[in-house]
Amino acid sequence: MHKNFKNIDKVVYGRGSFDELDGIIAPVRKENDGFFVFVVDSYFEGKPLADRIPVGPKDVVRYIDVEPKEPTTEQVDELRDSVLAEYGLPSGIVGIGGGSIMDIAKATALMFTNKGSSTLYQGLNLIKKPGIYHLGVPTISGTGAECSMTAVLTGPVKKLGLKCDWTVFNQVILDPDLTSSVPRNQWFYTGMDTYIHDIEAESGIFYNAYSKAYGDQSVQLCREVFLGDNSGQNPENDEKLMIASLFGGLSLTYSEVGACHALSYGLSYVFGYKHGFANCIAFNHLEEFYGDAVQEFKQMIDHHNIDLPQGLSAQWSDEEISKMADVAYNLPHMWTHALGHDWEKNLTKENIEEMYRRL
Ligand code: NAD
Ligand code: ZN
Repeated sequence: MHKNFKNIDKVVYGRGSFDELDGIIAPVRKENDGFFVFVVDSYFEGKPLADRIPVGPKDVVRYIDVEPKEPTTEQVDELRDSVLAEYGLPSGIVGIGGGSIMDIAKATALMFTNKGSSTLYQGLNLIKKPGIYHLGVPTISGTGAECSMTAVLTGPVKKLGLKCDWTVFNQVILDPDLTSSVPRNQWFYTGMDTYIHDIEAESGIFYNAYSKAYGDQSVQLCREVFLGDNSGQNPENDEKLMIASLFGGLSLTYSEVGACHALSYGLSYVFGYKHGFANCIAFNHLEEFYGDAVQEFKQMIDHHNIDLPQGLSAQWSDEEISKMADVAYNLPHMWTHALGHDWEKNLTKENIEEMYRRL
Protein backbone atom coordinates (compact mmCIF):
# COMPACT_ATOMS: atom_id res chain seq x y z
CA MET A 1 0.00 0.00 0.00
CA HIS A 2 1.23 3.47 -0.82
CA LYS A 3 1.18 6.10 1.86
CA ASN A 4 -1.67 8.57 1.55
CA PHE A 5 -0.09 11.40 3.43
CA LYS A 6 -1.92 14.28 5.12
CA ASN A 7 0.02 17.53 5.03
CA ILE A 8 -0.36 20.59 7.30
CA ASP A 9 -3.38 22.65 6.12
CA LYS A 10 -1.61 26.03 6.23
CA VAL A 11 1.92 27.28 6.92
CA VAL A 12 3.19 30.81 7.45
CA TYR A 13 6.96 31.31 7.49
CA GLY A 14 9.24 34.25 8.24
CA ARG A 15 10.76 36.40 10.95
CA GLY A 16 8.03 38.15 12.94
CA SER A 17 5.28 35.85 11.61
CA PHE A 18 4.32 34.99 15.21
CA ASP A 19 2.40 38.28 15.25
CA GLU A 20 -0.02 36.88 12.66
CA LEU A 21 -1.35 34.45 15.28
CA ASP A 22 -4.17 36.73 16.48
CA GLY A 23 -5.59 37.25 12.99
CA ILE A 24 -5.19 33.60 12.05
CA ILE A 25 -7.20 32.25 14.98
CA ALA A 26 -9.86 35.04 14.99
CA PRO A 27 -12.28 33.21 12.62
CA VAL A 28 -11.92 29.97 14.62
CA ARG A 29 -12.95 31.63 17.89
CA LYS A 30 -16.65 31.19 17.00
CA GLU A 31 -16.37 27.42 17.34
CA ASN A 32 -17.40 25.32 20.37
CA ASP A 33 -17.44 27.26 23.66
CA GLY A 34 -15.59 30.24 22.21
CA PHE A 35 -12.16 30.20 23.83
CA PHE A 36 -8.61 29.09 23.05
CA VAL A 37 -6.12 27.08 25.09
CA PHE A 38 -2.46 28.07 24.79
CA VAL A 39 0.04 25.46 25.91
CA VAL A 40 3.39 27.16 26.24
CA ASP A 41 6.84 25.90 27.18
CA SER A 42 7.50 27.22 30.70
CA TYR A 43 10.81 28.62 29.46
CA PHE A 44 8.76 31.52 28.03
CA GLU A 45 6.93 32.38 31.25
CA GLY A 46 7.80 35.98 32.09
CA LYS A 47 9.75 36.40 28.82
CA PRO A 48 8.80 39.00 26.17
CA LEU A 49 7.17 36.35 23.95
CA ALA A 50 4.56 35.68 26.67
CA ASP A 51 3.24 39.25 26.31
CA ARG A 52 2.85 38.78 22.56
CA ILE A 53 0.48 35.79 22.93
CA PRO A 54 -2.98 37.07 21.88
CA VAL A 55 -4.81 35.92 25.01
CA GLY A 56 -8.54 36.77 24.89
CA PRO A 57 -10.68 37.31 28.03
CA LYS A 58 -11.97 33.71 28.10
CA ASP A 59 -8.74 32.04 27.00
CA VAL A 60 -6.72 29.60 29.09
CA VAL A 61 -2.90 29.68 29.21
CA ARG A 62 -0.99 26.70 30.60
CA TYR A 63 2.78 26.92 30.99
CA ILE A 64 4.23 23.43 30.86
CA ASP A 65 7.64 22.34 32.09
CA VAL A 66 8.90 19.84 29.51
CA GLU A 67 11.92 18.80 31.59
CA PRO A 68 13.16 16.28 32.39
CA LYS A 69 10.88 13.74 30.70
CA GLU A 70 9.01 13.38 27.45
CA PRO A 71 5.23 14.04 27.31
CA THR A 72 3.03 11.40 28.92
CA THR A 73 -0.47 10.08 28.33
CA GLU A 74 -1.29 11.05 31.91
CA GLN A 75 -0.26 14.66 31.31
CA VAL A 76 -2.47 14.93 28.21
CA ASP A 77 -5.46 13.29 29.94
CA GLU A 78 -5.12 15.64 32.91
CA LEU A 79 -4.93 18.73 30.68
CA ARG A 80 -8.00 17.68 28.69
CA ASP A 81 -10.04 16.73 31.79
CA SER A 82 -9.24 19.88 33.74
CA VAL A 83 -10.03 22.23 30.83
CA LEU A 84 -13.30 20.44 29.98
CA ALA A 85 -14.41 20.43 33.63
CA GLU A 86 -13.65 24.09 34.27
CA TYR A 87 -14.25 25.85 30.95
CA GLY A 88 -15.90 23.52 28.41
CA LEU A 89 -14.82 22.63 24.88
CA PRO A 90 -12.27 25.03 23.42
CA SER A 91 -12.42 26.42 19.87
CA GLY A 92 -8.83 25.42 19.42
CA ILE A 93 -5.47 24.79 21.02
CA VAL A 94 -2.18 26.52 20.27
CA GLY A 95 1.17 24.93 21.18
CA ILE A 96 4.18 27.23 21.58
CA GLY A 97 7.44 25.36 22.23
CA GLY A 98 9.53 22.44 21.04
CA GLY A 99 8.62 18.92 19.96
CA SER A 100 7.29 18.15 23.45
CA ILE A 101 4.80 21.01 23.33
CA MET A 102 3.91 20.25 19.68
CA ASP A 103 3.00 16.71 20.70
CA ILE A 104 1.05 17.79 23.78
CA ALA A 105 -0.97 20.25 21.65
CA LYS A 106 -1.63 17.70 18.89
CA ALA A 107 -2.58 14.91 21.29
CA THR A 108 -4.78 17.09 23.50
CA ALA A 109 -6.62 18.46 20.43
CA LEU A 110 -7.60 14.87 19.58
CA MET A 111 -8.41 13.89 23.15
CA PHE A 112 -10.91 16.76 23.56
CA THR A 113 -13.27 14.84 21.26
CA ASN A 114 -12.27 11.23 21.91
CA LYS A 115 -13.46 9.61 25.13
CA GLY A 116 -11.30 7.87 27.72
CA SER A 117 -7.56 7.85 28.24
CA SER A 118 -5.06 8.66 25.49
CA THR A 119 -3.49 5.25 26.24
CA LEU A 120 -6.42 3.75 24.27
CA TYR A 121 -5.30 5.51 21.12
CA GLN A 122 -1.53 4.91 21.03
CA GLY A 123 -1.08 3.41 17.58
CA LEU A 124 -2.13 3.89 13.98
CA ASN A 125 -5.67 5.12 13.14
CA LEU A 126 -7.17 4.30 16.51
CA ILE A 127 -8.61 7.79 17.00
CA LYS A 128 -12.38 7.77 16.31
CA LYS A 129 -13.23 11.45 15.69
CA PRO A 130 -11.44 14.57 14.41
CA GLY A 131 -10.06 16.71 17.22
CA ILE A 132 -10.46 20.45 17.69
CA TYR A 133 -8.51 23.04 15.65
CA HIS A 134 -4.81 22.94 16.54
CA LEU A 135 -1.98 25.27 15.67
CA GLY A 136 1.74 24.78 16.27
CA VAL A 137 4.44 27.39 16.83
CA PRO A 138 7.84 25.64 17.08
CA THR A 139 10.48 27.43 19.16
CA ILE A 140 13.31 24.94 18.51
CA SER A 141 14.06 23.23 15.21
CA GLY A 142 14.65 19.60 14.42
CA THR A 143 11.98 17.12 15.40
CA GLY A 144 9.67 17.56 12.41
CA ALA A 145 6.80 17.31 14.90
CA GLU A 146 5.45 20.47 13.24
CA CYS A 147 4.49 18.44 10.17
CA SER A 148 4.23 14.82 11.26
CA MET A 149 1.10 12.67 11.49
CA THR A 150 1.93 11.57 15.00
CA ALA A 151 1.89 12.89 18.56
CA VAL A 152 4.36 10.79 20.51
CA LEU A 153 3.39 9.99 24.11
CA THR A 154 4.92 7.81 26.78
CA GLY A 155 2.27 5.72 28.52
CA PRO A 156 2.37 3.12 31.27
CA VAL A 157 3.21 0.32 28.80
CA LYS A 158 4.67 1.98 25.70
CA LYS A 159 6.08 5.05 24.03
CA LEU A 160 3.98 5.38 20.89
CA GLY A 161 2.25 8.11 18.95
CA LEU A 162 -1.41 8.88 18.37
CA LYS A 163 -1.06 8.60 14.62
CA CYS A 164 -3.74 9.49 12.09
CA ASP A 165 -4.66 12.19 9.54
CA TRP A 166 -6.38 14.28 12.20
CA THR A 167 -3.17 14.53 14.24
CA VAL A 168 -1.60 16.88 11.69
CA PHE A 169 -1.76 20.58 12.58
CA ASN A 170 -4.35 22.78 10.89
CA GLN A 171 -1.85 25.60 10.90
CA VAL A 172 1.84 26.07 11.66
CA ILE A 173 3.64 29.35 12.23
CA LEU A 174 7.36 29.12 11.48
CA ASP A 175 9.08 32.17 12.94
CA PRO A 176 12.89 31.73 13.09
CA ASP A 177 13.15 34.63 15.59
CA LEU A 178 11.74 32.31 18.25
CA THR A 179 14.61 29.83 18.18
CA SER A 180 17.49 32.22 18.88
CA SER A 181 17.47 31.59 22.65
CA VAL A 182 17.88 27.79 22.49
CA PRO A 183 20.93 26.66 24.56
CA ARG A 184 23.86 25.29 22.53
CA ASN A 185 23.77 21.58 23.43
CA GLN A 186 19.98 21.44 23.07
CA TRP A 187 20.18 23.24 19.71
CA PHE A 188 22.56 20.56 18.55
CA TYR A 189 20.70 17.50 19.86
CA THR A 190 17.34 18.58 18.49
CA GLY A 191 18.89 19.82 15.24
CA MET A 192 20.57 16.44 14.79
CA ASP A 193 17.14 14.81 14.93
CA THR A 194 16.63 16.36 11.49
CA TYR A 195 19.96 15.22 10.12
CA ILE A 196 19.27 11.71 11.43
CA HIS A 197 15.76 11.72 9.91
CA ASP A 198 17.32 12.53 6.54
CA ILE A 199 20.00 9.84 6.80
CA GLU A 200 17.64 7.18 8.10
CA ALA A 201 15.01 7.98 5.46
CA GLU A 202 17.56 7.32 2.72
CA SER A 203 18.99 4.17 4.35
CA GLY A 204 16.21 1.69 3.78
CA ILE A 205 13.74 0.04 1.49
CA PHE A 206 11.02 2.70 1.67
CA TYR A 207 13.22 5.44 0.21
CA ASN A 208 11.85 7.02 -2.96
CA ALA A 209 12.07 10.17 -5.09
CA TYR A 210 9.50 12.04 -2.99
CA SER A 211 11.45 11.40 0.20
CA LYS A 212 14.78 12.10 -1.52
CA ALA A 213 13.75 15.52 -2.82
CA TYR A 214 12.97 16.80 0.67
CA GLY A 215 15.78 14.83 2.33
CA ASP A 216 18.50 16.13 -0.02
CA GLN A 217 17.52 19.72 0.66
CA SER A 218 17.33 19.11 4.37
CA VAL A 219 20.77 17.45 4.56
CA GLN A 220 22.26 20.29 2.53
CA LEU A 221 20.81 22.85 4.94
CA CYS A 222 22.08 20.81 7.92
CA ARG A 223 25.59 20.80 6.45
CA GLU A 224 25.49 24.58 6.06
CA VAL A 225 24.21 25.01 9.60
CA PHE A 226 26.41 22.45 11.40
CA LEU A 227 29.60 22.44 9.33
CA GLY A 228 29.67 25.90 7.74
CA ASP A 229 32.00 28.68 8.87
CA ASN A 230 30.68 30.65 11.75
CA SER A 231 27.82 28.18 12.03
CA GLY A 232 25.76 28.65 15.14
CA GLN A 233 26.56 32.36 15.37
CA ASN A 234 24.94 33.23 12.07
CA PRO A 235 21.24 34.19 12.50
CA GLU A 236 20.53 32.92 8.98
CA ASN A 237 21.11 29.46 10.41
CA ASP A 238 17.93 29.72 12.47
CA GLU A 239 16.04 30.23 9.22
CA LYS A 240 17.80 27.34 7.51
CA LEU A 241 17.40 24.89 10.38
CA MET A 242 13.68 25.64 10.68
CA ILE A 243 13.17 24.66 7.03
CA ALA A 244 15.57 21.71 7.32
CA SER A 245 13.39 20.43 10.18
CA LEU A 246 10.21 20.75 8.12
CA PHE A 247 11.76 19.09 5.07
CA GLY A 248 13.40 16.35 7.16
CA GLY A 249 9.98 15.60 8.65
CA LEU A 250 8.46 15.41 5.17
CA SER A 251 11.29 13.21 3.94
CA LEU A 252 10.83 10.71 6.74
CA THR A 253 7.04 10.81 6.51
CA TYR A 254 7.29 9.57 2.96
CA SER A 255 9.96 7.03 3.87
CA GLU A 256 10.66 5.71 7.37
CA VAL A 257 13.15 5.93 10.21
CA GLY A 258 15.29 2.91 11.08
CA ALA A 259 17.70 1.38 13.58
CA CYS A 260 18.74 4.64 15.25
CA HIS A 261 15.20 5.68 16.09
CA ALA A 262 14.36 2.15 17.26
CA LEU A 263 17.28 2.22 19.74
CA SER A 264 16.44 5.80 20.68
CA TYR A 265 12.87 4.83 21.61
CA GLY A 266 14.25 2.20 24.01
CA LEU A 267 16.60 4.74 25.62
CA SER A 268 13.80 7.26 26.09
CA TYR A 269 11.42 4.66 27.44
CA VAL A 270 13.75 3.19 30.05
CA PHE A 271 15.81 6.25 31.05
CA GLY A 272 13.55 9.12 29.99
CA TYR A 273 16.29 10.55 27.74
CA LYS A 274 15.06 13.29 25.43
CA HIS A 275 14.53 12.17 21.85
CA GLY A 276 17.26 14.23 20.15
CA PHE A 277 19.84 13.36 22.80
CA ALA A 278 18.95 9.65 22.67
CA ASN A 279 19.26 9.69 18.87
CA CYS A 280 22.75 11.19 19.12
CA ILE A 281 23.83 8.59 21.71
CA ALA A 282 22.72 5.78 19.36
CA PHE A 283 23.73 7.27 15.99
CA ASN A 284 27.32 7.74 17.15
CA HIS A 285 27.76 3.93 17.17
CA LEU A 286 25.77 2.79 14.14
CA GLU A 287 28.35 2.78 11.34
CA GLU A 288 27.06 -0.54 10.04
CA PHE A 289 23.76 1.15 9.19
CA TYR A 290 24.78 4.69 8.30
CA GLY A 291 28.41 4.49 7.14
CA ASP A 292 30.03 7.84 6.32
CA ALA A 293 27.18 9.80 7.81
CA VAL A 294 28.38 8.71 11.27
CA GLN A 295 31.79 10.25 10.50
CA GLU A 296 30.10 13.43 9.34
CA PHE A 297 28.04 13.46 12.54
CA LYS A 298 31.26 13.18 14.60
CA GLN A 299 32.70 16.15 12.67
CA MET A 300 29.62 18.17 13.57
CA ILE A 301 30.07 17.24 17.25
CA ASP A 302 33.70 18.38 17.14
CA HIS A 303 32.91 21.55 15.21
CA HIS A 304 30.58 22.69 17.99
CA ASN A 305 32.34 21.18 21.00
CA ILE A 306 29.23 19.29 22.00
CA ASP A 307 29.25 17.09 25.10
CA LEU A 308 28.11 13.64 24.08
CA PRO A 309 28.48 11.10 26.89
CA GLN A 310 30.29 7.85 26.07
CA GLY A 311 30.42 4.51 27.83
CA LEU A 312 26.93 4.87 29.28
CA SER A 313 26.16 1.17 29.06
CA ALA A 314 28.73 0.41 31.79
CA GLN A 315 26.12 1.66 34.26
CA TRP A 316 23.14 -0.19 32.80
CA SER A 317 21.81 -3.42 34.30
CA ASP A 318 21.00 -6.49 32.19
CA GLU A 319 17.32 -5.90 32.96
CA GLU A 320 17.47 -2.34 31.65
CA ILE A 321 19.23 -3.46 28.49
CA SER A 322 16.72 -6.25 27.99
CA LYS A 323 13.81 -3.85 28.47
CA MET A 324 15.27 -1.39 25.93
CA ALA A 325 15.79 -4.21 23.46
CA ASP A 326 12.13 -5.24 23.89
CA VAL A 327 10.99 -1.71 23.12
CA ALA A 328 13.29 -1.44 20.08
CA TYR A 329 12.44 -4.90 18.74
CA ASN A 330 8.74 -4.09 18.83
CA LEU A 331 9.06 -1.39 16.16
CA PRO A 332 8.77 -3.65 13.10
CA HIS A 333 8.20 -0.84 10.58
CA MET A 334 11.61 0.65 11.47
CA TRP A 335 13.45 -2.69 11.16
CA THR A 336 11.62 -3.51 7.94
CA HIS A 337 12.88 -0.23 6.50
CA ALA A 338 16.43 -0.82 7.75
CA LEU A 339 16.79 -4.54 6.98
CA GLY A 340 14.02 -5.55 4.58
CA HIS A 341 10.77 -7.48 4.91
CA ASP A 342 12.51 -10.57 6.25
CA TRP A 343 14.29 -8.61 8.99
CA GLU A 344 13.22 -11.09 11.67
CA LYS A 345 15.48 -13.70 10.04
CA ASN A 346 18.48 -11.39 10.40
CA LEU A 347 17.91 -9.66 13.70
CA THR A 348 17.34 -11.08 17.17
CA LYS A 349 16.64 -9.35 20.42
CA GLU A 350 20.18 -10.36 21.47
CA ASN A 351 21.61 -8.47 18.47
CA ILE A 352 19.81 -5.36 19.68
CA GLU A 353 21.12 -5.87 23.21
CA GLU A 354 24.65 -5.96 21.75
CA MET A 355 24.00 -2.65 20.02
CA TYR A 356 22.98 -1.13 23.36
CA ARG A 357 26.10 -2.49 25.05
CA ARG A 358 28.21 -0.43 22.63
CA LEU A 359 26.71 2.88 23.74
P1 NAD B 1 11.68 19.88 23.80
O1 NAD B 1 10.38 20.41 23.35
O2 NAD B 1 11.63 18.70 24.70
O3 NAD B 1 12.52 21.04 24.47
C1 NAD B 1 13.86 20.84 24.86
C2 NAD B 1 14.36 21.94 25.72
O4 NAD B 1 14.50 23.14 24.97
C3 NAD B 1 13.42 22.27 26.87
O5 NAD B 1 14.19 22.53 28.01
C4 NAD B 1 12.74 23.55 26.42
O6 NAD B 1 12.31 24.33 27.49
C5 NAD B 1 13.86 24.22 25.65
N1 NAD B 1 13.44 25.20 24.65
C6 NAD B 1 12.56 25.05 23.63
N2 NAD B 1 12.50 26.17 22.89
C7 NAD B 1 13.37 27.06 23.46
C8 NAD B 1 13.78 28.39 23.14
N3 NAD B 1 13.33 29.02 22.06
N4 NAD B 1 14.68 28.98 23.95
C9 NAD B 1 15.20 28.33 25.02
N5 NAD B 1 14.87 27.08 25.36
C10 NAD B 1 13.97 26.45 24.59
O7 NAD B 1 12.66 19.52 22.59
P2 NAD B 1 12.50 18.86 21.19
O8 NAD B 1 13.78 18.17 20.95
O9 NAD B 1 12.02 19.83 20.18
O10 NAD B 1 11.34 17.80 21.35
C11 NAD B 1 11.52 16.51 21.86
C12 NAD B 1 10.18 15.82 21.89
O11 NAD B 1 9.65 15.76 20.58
C13 NAD B 1 10.20 14.41 22.41
O12 NAD B 1 9.19 14.26 23.36
C14 NAD B 1 9.93 13.55 21.19
O13 NAD B 1 9.22 12.36 21.50
C15 NAD B 1 9.10 14.47 20.36
N6 NAD B 1 9.19 14.17 18.92
C16 NAD B 1 8.04 14.11 18.23
C17 NAD B 1 8.03 13.85 16.88
C18 NAD B 1 6.75 13.79 16.13
O14 NAD B 1 6.76 13.52 14.94
N7 NAD B 1 5.63 14.02 16.75
C19 NAD B 1 9.25 13.68 16.21
C20 NAD B 1 10.42 13.76 16.93
C21 NAD B 1 10.38 14.02 18.30
ZN1 ZN C 1 13.25 11.82 15.39
